[in-house]
Amino acid sequence: MTQHRFFVPPEWIHEKSVTLYGATAHQVRNVLRLRPGDRIVVLDNTGWECEVELQQVSSSSVIGWIIEERPAMGEPRTRIVLYQAALKARKFEFVLQKGTELGVSEFVPIICERSVVGDVSDLDSKLERWQHVIREAAEQSHRGRLPILRAAMMFALACQEAVAANACAFILSEHDAQFSLKHALANITSNERKPPAAFSLLVGPEGGFTNEEIYLAAQYGVQAVQLGPRVLRAETAGLVAASVILYEMEQD
Ligand code: SAM
Repeated sequence: MTQHRFFVPPEWIHEKSVTLYGATAHQVRNVLRLRPGDRIVVLDNTGWECEVELQQVSSSSVIGWIIEERPAMGEPRTRIVLYQAALKARKFEFVLQKGTELGVSEFVPIICERSVVGDVSDLDSKLERWQHVIREAAEQSHRGRLPILRAAMMFALACQEAVAANACAFILSEHDAQFSLKHALANITSNERKPPAAFSLLVGPEGGFTNEEIYLAAQYGVQAVQLGPRVLRAETAGLVAASVILYEMEQD
């Protein structure tokens, strides 16, 4: 039976014992109705996980004993940073949830020329909810670390950071790209001795990137790539690109 997994603050772990508090304790006790003797997996977001046997499950506290510590296996070797244009809250949550399941390591909301004002103003007010969406998806998908959700960033700064931080930076463009993502990755894998450690992906808003944005990205060294002849929704494109890159780079 799959053991329930919980990311917890490191300070909840004291040597060989773990004490759960708040919503996590409530979920174990009242929702999942776990009992002493049951086992859960606890992660402290360092890339390790602890198998824990529950010792005490009461209204006052939930305490477990660490049976085994092991590396968490759910992390991709390739780090993907997804610079996703602001979207309607529901769509952005979809990107966070599915991107977490797929293995994206960092999400950065970006503000583009055609970003919708309402979507942008939503960004700050939704951060706490979106952290919760990421945590739930990371626990469900057996991630070893929590993907990071950064504060919103202007497009130009995102281009600058995307290239500085990661060897491979792509802007997804349905009509301005000289190469397909497939072609760009084939180039990388045939030229580089070992696969790049990280990729940045910039995805446009529902209205798409402007020509000026595509041009500016190129000035920073961000390569425009296409994902095929069909026009994907803004919340689909980044997920497709992340899947393709991880599939290509993570093959053992
Ligand atoms: N220009 C599109 C249209 O005519 O409907 C609107 C942009 S599309 C809905 C949103 C974003 O998804 C684009 O800015 C681009 O980043 C990405 N995208 C969608 N389809 C793509 C494709 N086939 N190749 C590369 N990127 C794509």
